Amino acid sequence: MLKHVFSRCGSSRSCGFAAAVCLVASFAAARAQDAQPVEINTVPVAGNVSMLVGQGGNIGVCVGEDGVFLIDDQFAPLTEKIKAAVAKLSPKPVKFLVNTHWHFDHTGGNENFGKAGAIIVAHENVRRSMSKDQFIEAFNANVPAAPPVALPIVTFTETVTFHFNGDDIRVFHVAPAHTDGDSVIHFARANVYHMGDTYFNGMYPFIDTARGGSLGGMIAAVDLVLKEASPDAKFIPGHGEMSGVAELRAYRQMLVEARDAISPLVKAGKSKEEIVAAHPTKALDEKWGKGILQPDAWVGIVVDGMKR
Ligand SMILES: [Zn+2]
Repeated sequence: MLKHVFSRCGSSRSCGFAAAVCLVASFAAARAQDAQPVEINTVPVAGNVSMLVGQGGNIGVCVGEDGVFLIDDQFAPLTEKIKAAVAKLSPKPVKFLVNTHWHFDHTGGNENFGKAGAIIVAHENVRRSMSKDQFIEAFNANVPAAPPVALPIVTFTETVTFHFNGDDIRVFHVAPAHTDGDSVIHFARANVYHMGDTYFNGMYPFIDTARGGSLGGMIAAVDLVLKEASPDAKFIPGHGEMSGVAELRAYRQMLVEARDAISPLVKAGKSKEEIVAAHPTKALDEKWGKGILQPDAWVGIVVDGMKR
Protein backbone atom coordinates (compact mmCIF):
# COMPACT_ATOMS: atom_id res chain seq x y z
CA MET A 1 0.00 0.00 0.00
CA LEU A 2 2.99 2.28 0.36
CA LYS A 3 4.43 1.43 -3.01
CA HIS A 4 4.01 4.86 -4.52
CA VAL A 5 4.27 6.91 -1.38
CA PHE A 6 7.46 8.61 -2.40
CA SER A 7 7.03 8.56 -6.15
CA ARG A 8 7.34 12.32 -6.45
CA CYS A 9 10.41 12.58 -4.25
CA GLY A 10 13.33 12.96 -6.59
CA SER A 11 16.66 14.59 -5.80
CA SER A 12 17.37 16.18 -2.46
CA ARG A 13 17.17 19.54 -4.20
CA SER A 14 13.56 18.94 -5.23
CA CYS A 15 12.67 17.91 -1.68
CA GLY A 16 13.62 21.29 -0.34
CA PHE A 17 14.85 20.69 3.15
CA ALA A 18 17.68 18.33 3.98
CA ALA A 19 16.01 17.13 7.16
CA ALA A 20 12.86 16.24 5.30
CA VAL A 21 14.92 14.26 2.83
CA CYS A 22 16.50 12.30 5.68
CA LEU A 23 13.08 11.49 7.06
CA VAL A 24 11.74 10.45 3.69
CA ALA A 25 14.87 8.44 3.00
CA SER A 26 14.58 6.55 6.26
CA PHE A 27 10.92 5.79 5.63
CA ALA A 28 11.71 4.70 2.09
CA ALA A 29 14.53 2.50 3.39
CA ALA A 30 12.13 0.75 5.74
CA ARG A 31 10.07 -0.17 2.70
CA ALA A 32 12.85 -0.97 0.27
CA GLN A 33 14.82 -3.24 2.60
CA ASP A 34 11.74 -5.04 3.85
CA ALA A 35 12.55 -3.68 7.30
CA GLN A 36 15.27 -6.26 7.94
CA PRO A 37 17.57 -3.97 9.96
CA VAL A 38 14.78 -2.66 12.18
CA GLU A 39 14.34 -4.21 15.61
CA ILE A 40 11.19 -3.74 17.68
CA ASN A 41 12.16 -2.89 21.25
CA THR A 42 9.66 -3.19 24.07
CA VAL A 43 9.76 -0.50 26.77
CA PRO A 44 7.63 -1.13 29.90
CA VAL A 45 5.70 2.06 30.74
CA ALA A 46 3.35 1.37 33.66
CA GLY A 47 1.09 -1.48 34.73
CA ASN A 48 0.03 -3.51 31.71
CA VAL A 49 1.00 -0.78 29.20
CA SER A 50 4.18 -0.90 27.13
CA MET A 51 5.69 1.09 24.29
CA LEU A 52 7.08 -0.59 21.18
CA VAL A 53 9.86 1.29 19.41
CA GLY A 54 10.90 0.38 15.90
CA GLN A 55 10.69 2.70 12.92
CA GLY A 56 7.95 5.30 12.62
CA GLY A 57 5.62 6.37 15.41
CA ASN A 58 5.85 4.82 18.85
CA ILE A 59 3.32 2.04 19.43
CA GLY A 60 1.32 1.71 22.65
CA VAL A 61 0.19 -1.76 23.73
CA CYS A 62 -2.06 -2.78 26.60
CA VAL A 63 -2.39 -6.50 27.43
CA GLY A 64 -4.71 -8.42 29.72
CA GLU A 65 -7.39 -11.04 29.90
CA ASP A 66 -9.62 -9.31 27.33
CA GLY A 67 -6.94 -9.27 24.64
CA VAL A 68 -4.48 -6.86 23.10
CA PHE A 69 -5.21 -3.16 22.64
CA LEU A 70 -2.79 -1.50 20.20
CA ILE A 71 -2.18 2.16 19.42
CA ASP A 72 -0.64 2.79 15.98
CA ASP A 73 1.31 0.25 13.90
CA GLN A 74 4.28 1.87 12.10
CA PHE A 75 4.96 0.43 8.60
CA ALA A 76 3.51 -2.62 6.86
CA PRO A 77 6.86 -4.47 6.50
CA LEU A 78 7.24 -4.37 10.29
CA THR A 79 3.93 -6.07 11.09
CA GLU A 80 5.38 -9.53 11.71
CA LYS A 81 8.04 -8.13 14.02
CA ILE A 82 5.44 -6.08 15.87
CA LYS A 83 3.27 -9.18 16.27
CA ALA A 84 6.29 -11.10 17.60
CA ALA A 85 6.98 -8.36 20.15
CA VAL A 86 3.32 -8.33 21.20
CA ALA A 87 3.33 -12.14 21.48
CA LYS A 88 6.03 -11.88 24.15
CA LEU A 89 3.59 -9.78 26.21
CA SER A 90 0.38 -11.72 25.52
CA PRO A 91 -0.75 -14.87 23.66
CA LYS A 92 -3.99 -13.12 22.67
CA PRO A 93 -4.76 -11.46 19.33
CA VAL A 94 -5.00 -7.71 18.71
CA LYS A 95 -8.68 -6.95 19.33
CA PHE A 96 -8.63 -3.16 18.97
CA LEU A 97 -6.25 -0.92 17.05
CA VAL A 98 -6.52 2.84 17.60
CA ASN A 99 -4.82 5.26 15.22
CA THR A 100 -3.68 8.54 16.81
CA HIS A 101 -3.83 10.19 13.34
CA TRP A 102 -3.66 9.33 9.66
CA HIS A 103 0.08 9.55 8.88
CA PHE A 104 1.61 6.50 7.23
CA ASP A 105 4.32 6.02 9.87
CA HIS A 106 1.47 5.37 12.35
CA THR A 107 -1.04 3.54 10.11
CA GLY A 108 1.19 1.59 7.69
CA GLY A 109 0.37 -1.73 9.37
CA ASN A 110 -3.40 -1.17 9.31
CA GLU A 111 -3.98 -3.34 6.25
CA ASN A 112 -2.23 -6.31 7.87
CA PHE A 113 -3.89 -5.91 11.27
CA GLY A 114 -7.28 -5.25 9.65
CA LYS A 115 -6.98 -8.49 7.64
CA ALA A 116 -6.05 -10.31 10.86
CA GLY A 117 -9.33 -9.19 12.43
CA ALA A 118 -8.41 -6.15 14.52
CA ILE A 119 -11.17 -3.56 14.88
CA ILE A 120 -9.60 -0.27 13.78
CA VAL A 121 -10.81 2.87 15.57
CA ALA A 122 -9.94 6.53 14.95
CA HIS A 123 -11.31 10.04 14.70
CA GLU A 124 -13.55 10.46 11.66
CA ASN A 125 -11.02 12.76 9.97
CA VAL A 126 -8.46 9.93 10.02
CA ARG A 127 -10.77 7.76 7.93
CA ARG A 128 -11.49 10.71 5.63
CA SER A 129 -7.80 11.48 5.05
CA MET A 130 -6.84 7.82 4.55
CA SER A 131 -9.70 7.30 2.07
CA LYS A 132 -8.23 9.73 -0.46
CA ASP A 133 -4.89 10.20 -2.20
CA GLN A 134 -2.87 12.77 -0.26
CA PHE A 135 0.25 14.80 -0.90
CA ILE A 136 2.50 15.92 1.96
CA GLU A 137 4.26 19.03 0.71
CA ALA A 138 6.93 19.15 3.43
CA PHE A 139 8.23 15.73 2.36
CA ASN A 140 7.22 16.04 -1.30
CA ALA A 141 5.45 12.74 -0.73
CA ASN A 142 2.42 11.19 -2.37
CA VAL A 143 0.35 9.04 -0.05
CA PRO A 144 -2.17 6.90 -1.94
CA ALA A 145 -5.61 6.15 -0.55
CA ALA A 146 -5.60 3.14 1.79
CA PRO A 147 -7.55 -0.01 0.84
CA PRO A 148 -10.88 -0.45 2.68
CA VAL A 149 -9.54 -3.11 5.08
CA ALA A 150 -6.93 -0.61 6.34
CA LEU A 151 -9.47 2.08 7.19
CA PRO A 152 -10.88 2.68 10.67
CA ILE A 153 -14.28 0.91 10.75
CA VAL A 154 -15.33 2.65 13.98
CA THR A 155 -15.01 6.43 13.98
CA PHE A 156 -15.89 9.10 16.51
CA THR A 157 -15.92 12.88 16.72
CA GLU A 158 -15.06 13.77 20.31
CA THR A 159 -14.33 10.83 22.59
CA VAL A 160 -14.79 7.10 23.04
CA THR A 161 -13.91 4.93 26.06
CA PHE A 162 -12.92 1.25 26.06
CA HIS A 163 -13.58 -0.75 29.21
CA PHE A 164 -10.95 -3.34 28.54
CA ASN A 165 -8.30 -5.31 30.41
CA GLY A 166 -9.54 -3.90 33.73
CA ASP A 167 -8.84 -0.34 32.66
CA ASP A 168 -10.86 2.57 31.31
CA ILE A 169 -9.12 3.61 28.13
CA ARG A 170 -10.33 7.05 27.04
CA VAL A 171 -9.58 8.13 23.48
CA PHE A 172 -10.22 11.85 23.03
CA HIS A 173 -9.92 14.11 20.05
CA VAL A 174 -8.01 17.36 20.50
CA ALA A 175 -8.67 20.46 18.39
CA PRO A 176 -6.42 20.51 15.28
CA ALA A 177 -2.80 20.31 16.44
CA HIS A 178 -0.47 18.02 14.45
CA THR A 179 -3.34 17.24 12.01
CA ASP A 180 -7.11 17.75 12.03
CA GLY A 181 -7.72 14.22 13.34
CA ASP A 182 -5.46 13.84 16.38
CA SER A 183 -6.41 11.72 19.35
CA VAL A 184 -4.76 11.35 22.74
CA ILE A 185 -5.34 8.12 24.66
CA HIS A 186 -5.42 7.90 28.46
CA PHE A 187 -5.24 4.64 30.38
CA ALA A 188 -6.91 5.64 33.65
CA ARG A 189 -5.67 2.83 35.87
CA ALA A 190 -2.16 2.61 34.44
CA ASN A 191 -2.09 6.44 34.25
CA VAL A 192 -0.40 6.49 30.87
CA TYR A 193 -1.07 8.90 28.02
CA HIS A 194 -0.27 8.12 24.38
CA MET A 195 0.10 11.58 22.86
CA GLY A 196 0.39 10.63 19.19
CA ASP A 197 2.31 13.24 17.22
CA THR A 198 1.15 16.13 19.40
CA TYR A 199 4.34 15.22 21.30
CA PHE A 200 7.82 14.74 19.84
CA ASN A 201 9.94 14.26 22.97
CA GLY A 202 13.23 16.18 22.81
CA MET A 203 12.90 17.44 19.24
CA TYR A 204 11.05 19.87 16.99
CA PRO A 205 7.76 18.29 15.86
CA PHE A 206 6.51 17.91 12.32
CA ILE A 207 3.17 19.73 11.87
CA ASP A 208 0.83 18.84 9.01
CA THR A 209 -0.22 22.40 8.21
CA ALA A 210 -2.05 21.39 5.02
CA ARG A 211 -4.44 19.29 7.10
CA GLY A 212 -5.26 21.68 9.90
CA GLY A 213 -2.10 21.47 12.00
CA SER A 214 -0.54 24.53 13.62
CA LEU A 215 1.93 25.42 16.33
CA GLY A 216 -0.85 27.07 18.34
CA GLY A 217 -2.88 23.87 18.11
CA MET A 218 0.10 21.80 19.28
CA ILE A 219 0.48 24.04 22.34
CA ALA A 220 -3.26 23.84 23.09
CA ALA A 221 -3.22 20.02 22.89
CA VAL A 222 -0.28 19.75 25.27
CA ASP A 223 -1.87 22.27 27.64
CA LEU A 224 -5.10 20.27 27.68
CA VAL A 225 -3.23 17.15 28.78
CA LEU A 226 -0.95 18.93 31.27
CA LYS A 227 -4.01 20.47 32.90
CA GLU A 228 -5.53 17.10 33.75
CA ALA A 229 -2.47 14.88 34.17
CA SER A 230 -1.33 13.93 37.66
CA PRO A 231 2.37 14.37 38.57
CA ASP A 232 3.10 10.64 38.27
CA ALA A 233 1.56 10.22 34.80
CA LYS A 234 3.69 8.66 32.05
CA PHE A 235 3.63 9.82 28.43
CA ILE A 236 4.26 7.91 25.23
CA PRO A 237 5.21 10.49 22.59
CA GLY A 238 4.61 9.94 18.88
CA HIS A 239 8.38 10.13 18.46
CA GLY A 240 11.19 10.14 21.01
CA GLU A 241 11.59 8.47 24.36
CA MET A 242 8.91 7.73 26.94
CA SER A 243 8.60 10.59 29.41
CA GLY A 244 7.17 11.99 32.62
CA VAL A 245 5.55 15.35 33.23
CA ALA A 246 8.85 17.28 33.39
CA GLU A 247 9.87 16.43 29.82
CA LEU A 248 6.39 17.26 28.51
CA ARG A 249 6.53 20.64 30.28
CA ALA A 250 9.94 21.35 28.76
CA TYR A 251 8.58 20.50 25.30
CA ARG A 252 5.60 22.81 25.88
CA GLN A 253 7.96 25.62 26.94
CA MET A 254 9.99 25.15 23.75
CA LEU A 255 6.83 25.36 21.62
CA VAL A 256 5.80 28.60 23.35
CA GLU A 257 9.25 30.18 22.96
CA ALA A 258 9.32 29.23 19.29
CA ARG A 259 5.86 30.71 18.75
CA ASP A 260 6.84 33.93 20.49
CA ALA A 261 9.98 34.22 18.36
CA ILE A 262 8.37 33.42 14.99
CA SER A 263 4.90 34.96 15.28
CA PRO A 264 6.01 38.64 15.33
CA LEU A 265 7.99 38.11 12.11
CA VAL A 266 4.93 36.62 10.38
CA LYS A 267 2.77 39.47 11.66
CA ALA A 268 5.35 41.96 10.33
CA GLY A 269 4.74 40.55 6.86
CA LYS A 270 8.12 38.92 6.34
CA SER A 271 8.38 36.11 3.79
CA LYS A 272 9.02 32.50 4.77
CA GLU A 273 12.53 32.74 3.29
CA GLU A 274 13.31 35.88 5.30
CA ILE A 275 12.07 34.33 8.52
CA VAL A 276 14.01 31.08 8.01
CA ALA A 277 17.15 33.10 7.22
CA ALA A 278 16.74 35.11 10.45
CA HIS A 279 17.11 31.90 12.53
CA PRO A 280 14.47 32.97 15.05
CA THR A 281 14.81 29.74 17.09
CA LYS A 282 18.60 29.81 17.38
CA ALA A 283 18.47 29.79 21.20
CA LEU A 284 16.51 26.51 21.02
CA ASP A 285 18.21 24.80 18.09
CA GLU A 286 21.08 23.18 19.99
CA LYS A 287 18.72 21.25 22.23
CA TRP A 288 15.71 20.65 19.96
CA GLY A 289 17.00 20.85 16.38
CA LYS A 290 18.83 17.56 16.10
CA GLY A 291 15.89 15.19 15.78
CA ILE A 292 13.65 14.43 12.82
CA LEU A 293 13.45 18.08 11.76
CA GLN A 294 16.40 20.43 11.64
CA PRO A 295 15.87 24.12 12.51
CA ASP A 296 15.33 25.59 9.03
CA ALA A 297 12.78 22.92 8.10
CA TRP A 298 10.98 23.35 11.42
CA VAL A 299 10.77 27.14 11.14
CA GLY A 300 9.48 26.86 7.57
CA ILE A 301 6.70 24.50 8.66
CA VAL A 302 5.70 26.76 11.55
CA VAL A 303 5.58 29.77 9.23
CA ASP A 304 3.45 27.81 6.73
CA GLY A 305 0.97 27.10 9.51
CA MET A 306 0.88 30.72 10.68
CA LYS A 307 0.36 32.03 7.15
CA ARG A 308 -2.57 29.73 6.36
ZN1 LIG B 1 2.38 12.38 12.26
